[in-house]
Amino acid sequence: MTYDIMQSVSNEPASDVQTCPHCGFSWLPLSRAKCATRMSAAVESFVDVIQRAGEQVGTRPSERRWSILEYGGHLRDVILSVRDRIVLASILDVPVGTPIFRNERVDLGFYAQDSASDVAVELQVATYLFLKTVATLPPNYEERGLIYRTRTPLEITIAGAMSNALHECEHHLGDATENLRSLDSPHG
Ligand SMILES: [Zn+2]
Repeated sequence: MTYDIMQSVSNEPASDVQTCPHCGFSWLPLSRAKCATRMSAAVESFVDVIQRAGEQVGTRPSERRWSILEYGGHLRDVILSVRDRIVLASILDVPVGTPIFRNERVDLGFYAQDSASDVAVELQVATYLFLKTVATLPPNYEERGLIYRTRTPLEITIAGAMSNALHECEHHLGDATENLRSLDSPHG
């Protein structure tokens, strides 16, 4: 249903410059400051899309796409999940993460009680927590390693995880914006 970033990134070293075929994001080296600026901007734009969607925020434009609200809930959970991975990797040597089971979260109804105002606030809080964590990392901790999950056991760095989180924000902002466009003009 959506581009599986956890899958993609765990197959490639984070130091290689890859580009997302869907949104054009490049995994170039990313400073903490740049990460903060771009992530804040993407999430603010996402919140703006939530507000502009009005009553259509929970509508799936097609069976193959989530609603803006579901993309927002997914993004919120990804940000929190990557933050936990970064904290763990700061303490342990190359810890192994667990997948977030994105589809299962939706299918089991964990997002069913999400309202537009909830998700808008939660996205901002999750992003703030994430960026506070990144800002607090001791010097050079960006180079510490972690493994996203056991099924694809390839090591990336905390810097790579920061890029992944930023990609999720910018990529799903694209999804939400695309939803908004197709909901505005369902026949065009
Ligand atoms: Zn992308």
